[in-house]
Amino acid sequence: MFTTKEELKRFFREKVKELHPDRGGDRENFLRFLDWYQKKLSTIPEQVEVTIVHNPIPSQNAIYKMEEFTIKELALALPKKIRLPVDERRCQICDGTGATVAQEKRICKTCSGSGVLRMENGLQELIELRCPNCQGRGYTLTELCPSCFGKGRIREEREILISIPPGLREGDTLFISGSPFGLKYNIYIEVIVKPHPFLRLTKDSLIYTLTLPFYELLLKETIPIETLEGVEEVPTERLRRGGPVIFPRRGPFLAGSDSLERGDLIVELRITFPERINDKAKDCLQRFLEILEGEETWRKEPYQS
Ligand SMILES: [Zn+2]
Ligand SMILES: [Zn+2]
Repeated sequence: MFTTKEELKRFFREKVKELHPDRGGDRENFLRFLDWYQKKLSTIPEQVEVTIVHNPIPSQNAIYKMEEFTIKELALALPKKIRLPVDERRCQICDGTGATVAQEKRICKTCSGSGVLRMENGLQELIELRCPNCQGRGYTLTELCPSCFGKGRIREEREILISIPPGLREGDTLFISGSPFGLKYNIYIEVIVKPHPFLRLTKDSLIYTLTLPFYELLLKETIPIETLEGVEEVPTERLRRGGPVIFPRRGPFLAGSDSLERGDLIVELRITFPERINDKAKDCLQRFLEILEGEETWRKEPYQS
């Protein structure tokens, strides 16, 4: 319902006017609304500024991540929730041991349970090494903790909200500074576009491939298509003229456009035919053609040029 904190705050400011007891609102009701608002506000993730970077420089102080975006998210530059890896913490399920609670611990055969190996270092000195078989625990694990997969530590994730920059496309990289989250590293996100059955995004346009059997193009008055703003009926008469049908400024928001300038939605027609038709259907088509020729009107239509 509310994607950003701003949206919720706007709704709150409007609603509070009518519910406030000073304006004759019910006090109980008003308090319930305040409570609901506080809870709701805390569930909406923080909105974070991102920038598009080209050719990011690999660095140790950076995390690289791939993220899938839908065509609609990119075209409309919608806010998007993503999960960021933040610092590691001790696994609470196994208390950092990496073991499941129920299992038996087996005494490590390599170090006999001491967790260390004593050996001579060649200078007739005795040194202690951490046992590599049990990582110094003194016991081995028969079953690993399912939460941390035996590592004892878990990488925490945090959900944040990013505002997608207009013009973001497949293969671009987003940069998010880690410092606002108290992270020691920055985050780079490579954009993957979720494949869509009939939509395609170019730099400036949204391409819609409309697949229609030839008879629907002739028999139906309109064909519904799903645009970014919902369903729209395209008259088949427009499609029959040939060439793409263009909806101006109904495509994606354009890169660097503060003016919210948009590209076009371009509907390209792909007509399908039955692979085989029987004699009866052929006769019908032949008859159909004779009727058309009898009327002679179709020759004057622009699609004949
Ligand atoms: Zn050991
Ligand atoms: Zn664990």
